[in-house]
Amino acid sequence: MLLRLRDDLTSEDTYQVCASCEALGFRAREIQVGERGVHLLEVEGDAGPEAAAKLRSVLEDHLAVAAVIDARGASELVDQSAARSETVVRVGEAVFGGGQAALIGGPCAVENEDQLLEIARGVRAAGGTLLRGGAMKPRSSPYAFQGLGKEGLAMLGRVGREVGIPVVTEVLEPSAVETMLDACDMFQIGSRNMSNTPLLVEVGKTKKPVLLKRGMSATAREFLMAAEYLLAGGNDQIVLCERGIRGFDSATRNVLDVGTVAHLKRATHLPVIVDPSHAAGRSELVRPLAKSGIAVGADGLIIEINPTPMRAHSDARQAIDLAEFAAIADDTRRLLSIDGRSLSTCSTSTQPQAH
Ligand code: PEP
Ligand code: MN
Repeated sequence: MLLRLRDDLTSEDTYQVCASCEALGFRAREIQVGERGVHLLEVEGDAGPEAAAKLRSVLEDHLAVAAVIDARGASELVDQSAARSETVVRVGEAVFGGGQAALIGGPCAVENEDQLLEIARGVRAAGGTLLRGGAMKPRSSPYAFQGLGKEGLAMLGRVGREVGIPVVTEVLEPSAVETMLDACDMFQIGSRNMSNTPLLVEVGKTKKPVLLKRGMSATAREFLMAAEYLLAGGNDQIVLCERGIRGFDSATRNVLDVGTVAHLKRATHLPVIVDPSHAAGRSELVRPLAKSGIAVGADGLIIEINPTPMRAHSDARQAIDLAEFAAIADDTRRLLSIDGRSLSTCSTSTQPQAH
């Protein structure tokens, strides 16, 4: 059971509510997320159905309690109404939300340092503010390239520092969260792991920004509930990412669900971005899909880039080159200006010297 407490309570009022729960054999734990002032109590215990019913009636009448919520399916923290304002997520100079959008670009997988450096410089020069690159790759086939692992992570860190751009990379398992904390500026939780609750719980314990990708068959509600796990753990630095859902037509790799992007922008206070690369599956479709994402209100894009796309070790067919990325950045600036929004950029003063 979750309790939403009234806004104007003293700590004595909160203590009284906890005491009422304890008197009937239940434990109450406070959940307070970020600066948004959502004040919840999670009530747990197995004192039996009678005690639970009694507790519910006591709490429903309690002056300090605004609402008693059945915790199964509750999405108190992720809902739009839970926030006084839109959540803005900042990673370095990348700003997602609050009228600003950000571009993330980089290879599907980190392949070698020279190539990563070339991509990172190109991304930054075009107006990107975050470098992506998988080091641990969740591949559909066990025989496909699985990423460079720790070596790839180290390359990402070095290149990010050299170019002056923060890095986002996928974390595959709960046991890797702590060791990867210092290796990246933002965690990516991939489509195949959106419902991996132990991973969500572990990442939720950190304050590190998270890029949460929608499961390929997840409903909007399931997607939001995955974000709720992160929020319930205390991490509100979440950017949602629509990356295409399974369809019946193989003309595109996935179906970019722009309707759900528009819906999410109204259903939650969290920023939402679009991944046109994994949706399209074909390089020539990435630019038009990118435009559609920004047009429906996305707060940014994540795009796979490779200087020689056809030679990429993974997802070669959908990789675009740096010139195409720059064209997408131009489209994005223009589309954002129609809505009175703008693209966050790396400040020139922090541009490191090329050598
Ligand atoms: C990726 O971004 O590299 C990736 C594997 O994406 P997804 O989880 O959306 O398939
Ligand atoms: Mn990929």
